[in-house]
Amino acid sequence: MKRKTAHRIRLVGEGLQTFERQANPKPLSDDTTNGFSRTIGALGSETFAAFRHAEQLVVGAGRLGSMWLDTMIRGGLRRVIDPDHLEEHNRDATFGNLPGDLGKPKSHVIARHLGAIRPDAQITGFEATVDDEAMLSRFRQCDIVVTCVDNDACRRHVAALCAQLLKVHLDIGTLVTRIVDGDLGDQSASQIQADIRLMLPGACLACVGGLEANDSALNPWGGDVAWKSGGRIGSLTSINHMAVGVAQQLLYDFLGGKLDTSYWHRLQWSTPGELQSLAGATKGDPQCAICHEIS
Ligand SMILES: [Zn+2]
Repeated sequence: MKRKTAHRIRLVGEGLQTFERQANPKPLSDDTTNGFSRTIGALGSETFAAFRHAEQLVVGAGRLGSMWLDTMIRGGLRRVIDPDHLEEHNRDATFGNLPGDLGKPKSHVIARHLGAIRPDAQITGFEATVDDEAMLSRFRQCDIVVTCVDNDACRRHVAALCAQLLKVHLDIGTLVTRIVDGDLGDQSASQIQADIRLMLPGACLACVGGLEANDSALNPWGGDVAWKSGGRIGSLTSINHMAVGVAQQLLYDFLGGKLDTSYWHRLQWSTPGELQSLAGATKGDPQCAICHEIS
């Protein structure tokens, strides 16, 4: 059976819109797949090719974003553009940084690191913020926008851009918070959590829930979606690895044509030793001013 590929997205609903995916750019001159036999064996050559030729715009090059980029480039991605400065508190977990990089733009540090891993990959780093007009053309030209940021204003802005430009939006967020444990009285425990959301045109982060200003529950499992309760106490590479792995597989499933709906994964490590996962398909709100009122 021929594998379905994600060249077209049809939205069932008002207007019955169909969106053609942009044709992949010309193959790169050195298009060898040497070194990826295990991945190709697992994914199939068609899915691997779809992954390899997709262009990603990655927003955020810090602890989580640099891990994502490292994983993507090692996995064979050929084109990445990345719009941020390295700070001391990021040095322990930001990929590619060296002692002399303190104060340098994160995007430049990670671009140098990625280029050393795969010299044939096309990687561009930008210091611009997502609302910089100069970035608009970059949003237009990419296939997939990935956000690895820690603020909802940025997520919301990117969600709106993706809705307007009909881009696939993959958001990866992790959080470690202090929660008050009732059984422990005034003692507190930490909650380790991640949200990985793949938003296709017709759904956006602003309406499915989970952003600070909108926790209305369109999430696939119902119930409380708020994850901002309690204070942020830090960041752990353990949950970042889990989140990146889930996001990577979601992307493979989408590019391989196995997933054709928006999807939300929530990972929680609230009980010592136990990973809990909530996940399911999600839909946008037909009343959403961002993803359902695009003229
Ligand atoms: Zn929406």
